[in-house]
Amino acid sequence: MIISRPSVKAVVILASVLFVAGGTFVYANHSWGGYHWARTSNPFTLKLGDNVSSAWNTYLNEASSDWSASTILDTAVVQGGTKPRNCRATNGQVEVCSSKYGFNGWLGVASIWISGDHIVKGTAKVNDSYFNTAMYNTPAWRRLVMCQEIAHTFGLDHQDEEFNNANLGSCMDYTNDPDGGLDGFVNDDPSNEHPNAHDYEQLEAIYSHFDSTATVRQTASGRGRFGNGHEADDVSDDWGKKIRKDLRGRTSLHVRDLGNAEKVFTFIFWTD
Ligand SMILES: [Zn+2]
Ligand SMILES: [Zn+2]
Repeated sequence: MIISRPSVKAVVILASVLFVAGGTFVYANHSWGGYHWARTSNPFTLKLGDNVSSAWNTYLNEASSDWSASTILDTAVVQGGTKPRNCRATNGQVEVCSSKYGFNGWLGVASIWISGDHIVKGTAKVNDSYFNTAMYNTPAWRRLVMCQEIAHTFGLDHQDEEFNNANLGSCMDYTNDPDGGLDGFVNDDPSNEHPNAHDYEQLEAIYSHFDSTATVRQTASGRGRFGNGHEADDVSDDWGKKIRKDLRGRTSLHVRDLGNAEKVFTFIFWTD
């Protein structure tokens, strides 16, 4: 006891010092405020509507399979329920879309609609205006962004929002070098093209309880709007209040309050 107490304290102090001295913020907990799909058991199946162009199908399937390795959830790629350009949300599932949304600065955008603590629908969009350019038209960039945008719809946040530090080996980590050391840009970094163990642990933490009802739709899918009809589903739409900036000063998270304890959160993945 006499030995163990000070050693525990020393670890805590050391961790605090590193936290400050490092100058970057690594999220110990990277959920979206604990928001989650309501369901009555685990693992649950979340449908991912396929509204992506053929160039994305490999990456959508790969991301679906990566995240399904979680003990908490399985994702199933299903026929899309919307037009890619509008990417309108469908209750109880996620719509994944790709389109040339324009040179508006973002590579990907994910939105979740919240009622109380529960996610009721989500969208993930990837911007072909950039992914058709030589810089971003690479398997590594496509994997990183697809993997990350889909995971935001589970309630996962970023692990880290600094582009220039070492990769954490997770697609929930911002980077300017998605495949790590392969191209020599940053030496010996792990790849950020897939989830890492911490992401799966975070899912386990978010989904450790059960709900009496389900917002995730595991059978027939249904259209229909949620809340008062506002949709953050168009590039020209107002994403609402800016609630967080990344380390380059660009807003990475917005919220729009729909009233009646209903909100839409939108995450933005900006170009490098
Ligand atoms: Zn719950
Ligand atoms: Zn993101």
